[in-house]
Amino acid sequence: MIELPEAAALATQVADTLIGRAVTGAEANHTPHKMMGFFGDPASYPGLLVGRRITGATAWAGHLSVEADDLRIVLSEGAFPQLYPADAALPPRHQLRIDLDDGSTLLVTVAMYGGIQVFHDGENNNPYYKVAMAKPSPLTDAFDAAYFASLLVDSRARALSAKAFLATGQRIPGLGNGVLQDILWNARLHPKRKVTTLTDAEQEVLFASVTGTLADMTTAGGRDTERDLFGRPGGYATVMSRTTLELPCPRCGARVAKMAYLGGAVYFCTDCQVE
Ligand SMILES: [Zn+2]
Repeated sequence: MIELPEAAALATQVADTLIGRAVTGAEANHTPHKMMGFFGDPASYPGLLVGRRITGATAWAGHLSVEADDLRIVLSEGAFPQLYPADAALPPRHQLRIDLDDGSTLLVTVAMYGGIQVFHDGENNNPYYKVAMAKPSPLTDAFDAAYFASLLVDSRARALSAKAFLATGQRIPGLGNGVLQDILWNARLHPKRKVTTLTDAEQEVLFASVTGTLADMTTAGGRDTERDLFGRPGGYATVMSRTTLELPCPRCGARVAKMAYLGGAVYFCTDCQVE
């Protein structure tokens, strides 16, 4: 899934590669997908897109927004963009195809579930996006220790687990079940650890892990379990993920385990992440 680091990395790649390119053709919903949402009618997308020129790309939380003047192409969750050069064979299944004037094609395919939204800026009142845009990003100074503590207050009252606190309820948009794993490993906390039991020192360590881990992932161009604009794995080597399951924990040597918990698998060290 596209989470905060991947959205940021994709925005940089789109800006570096596609600004100035004109859209010469487009098609949406080529392969209907049950677990995805379009904004408005996808049949209207070619009319919106063709003739436009890409003017920028930004990321907010886990969303990638490609801009063509006032038009926005927003990709979320499992809606992965990939750029194919002029002579490349395109995969037969896709949910959005954008042909560009140098012969390349930007293809979006949805894995599992995702959102593709093409709209004029200001048209989209989806609360999910508004919340994501309004809250401070953990990559900015506005997301400081005091702000993090304010998020914990309500979560302590409800005795949430560390995973529930960090990765559910849109408390920290863009922090999902993917990036969560290394954040908890760096903080030495078990996903089921109740936030009511965190000491002041543990809370400080967790804050540093949230901001530091996300910054490291972003700087490296996203996680190695996800793909970038060119279909390559991101440069951040995940410590706790499907690629390291059953391997020894690099910190203590114990086994990396997997468990289904709160709507998604968690990967954790059975010894040094304390419940
Ligand atoms: Zn360990």
